[in-house]
Amino acid sequence: MVNLSQASKKEIDVVLNDCGWRQTKQRVTLLKTIFDGSDKHFCVNAIEQTLKDHGSFFSYTTLFENLNTLSDKGYLKRITCDKQYFYDTNTSDHIHVFNEDDNQIYDYSDYKQIHDDLPLPACLELLKEYSLVINLKKKK
Ligand SMILES: [Zn+2]
Repeated sequence: MVNLSQASKKEIDVVLNDCGWRQTKQRVTLLKTIFDGSDKHFCVNAIEQTLKDHGSFFSYTTLFENLNTLSDKGYLKRITCDKQYFYDTNTSDHIHVFNEDDNQIYDYSDYKQIHDDLPLPACLELLKEYSLVINLKKKK
């Protein structure tokens, strides 16, 4: 995980240059908000709200493009789930659980601690690299 919470201007410039971005106050806020030192999953709407709370306003399109650039450059992992995009600061291969009831995405390892009856699909043992989302919805 990239941690920019204590990053110098120079360290932030490295990421900005890598993405082909000019340094703007807004983009620095974006990077510092996402890479604040703790791993997180979020969708565009959630990060838009967090940025708004920090006094930084992005249009949905700009934010979406910026997040996809960060994903293409390997700073974020993009997860497609239920026709939505989620982003993960943890870019290693790991399994996710998508809970439709709260529209949130979790790491399998975290979710397993709350729901230890959750089975691990046996096919995973056969795969070296995987990207999998377990889609959960309560039975009606
Ligand atoms: Zn994750």
